[in-house]
Amino acid sequence: MQLWMDGTLLNPGEGAVSPLAHGLHYGTGVFEGIRAYETAEGPAIFRLDDHLDRLGRGAEAIGMPVDLTLLRQGCLEALAASGLKEAYLRPLAFYETGGLGLDVAGLRVRHFVAALPWKNHLGEDHDGIRVRTSPFRRNPSRALPPLKLCGAYVNSILAKLEAGRAGYDEALFVDDEGFVVECTGENVFFVKGGRVTAVQHEDALPGITRATVLEMCGAESRPVLASELLAADEVFVTGTSAEITAVSSLDGRLWGPGPVTRDLQRRYQDLVHGRTEDHGAWLTGVTDAVRL
Ligand code: PMP
Repeated sequence: MQLWMDGTLLNPGEGAVSPLAHGLHYGTGVFEGIRAYETAEGPAIFRLDDHLDRLGRGAEAIGMPVDLTLLRQGCLEALAASGLKEAYLRPLAFYETGGLGLDVAGLRVRHFVAALPWKNHLGEDHDGIRVRTSPFRRNPSRALPPLKLCGAYVNSILAKLEAGRAGYDEALFVDDEGFVVECTGENVFFVKGGRVTAVQHEDALPGITRATVLEMCGAESRPVLASELLAADEVFVTGTSAEITAVSSLDGRLWGPGPVTRDLQRRYQDLVHGRTEDHGAWLTGVTDAVRL
């Protein structure tokens, strides 16, 4: 693991943050979850600039003057110094000292990156995850924009806890009208008659893996009722950490391994490892980008 803060690689034990950090008290920060994969040219970060762009939109929403160039350099330096061939990168920008009022103007902004070894948080040795419809509603976008704002994740944590206590792997958010929103950290897709559909909802995070899969298979994107998911041939979820993970059950409705999901999983792995001709621009190599 390698940590980096405000332009400097940290040694173990370094990286002090004030207990008065505004972000700690109110969740006033914005983060990303990014993966780096081993490629023939060395470790490469998948869609780094798209992730930083989304972080920038979150920062703008909370009036934060984030330095995206600095954070980008932090991602490259932390990954290179970690020595990891594959890693999870966690950039985080948060308000720290300067006041505990709710006016954020003038607060100190800290820039942080961690490069960590990583495995799919939903597990890898299974034929799919067991999902339960959550009794919780997703943060409505008119109350909290669907971006990676730190405080917004308490909503996901509540749903995840509830699903875990009931013996499930993951929770599915559905809205008051019965439309599917997303899972706690993944977007949702289904397959019916060989056709792939991406769930679209204004309260869902605009996922980068979702956009990648849309581009890979030309799936349609539209609002989807929960009843349509239950009638699907295959259901899968997407996310940087989850990649493409099959759903093996939803509220007791069971699915066996799906051929379309399997095929997309293989193609996604080829893409992120740079084994395909197209989309090379989505991979940022560390070896030539950083001189340590
Ligand atoms: N929804 C939520 C709530 C998430 O936290 C994530 C993970 N970032 C996703 C969807 C998937 O987004 P991405 O593919 O960009 O990782």
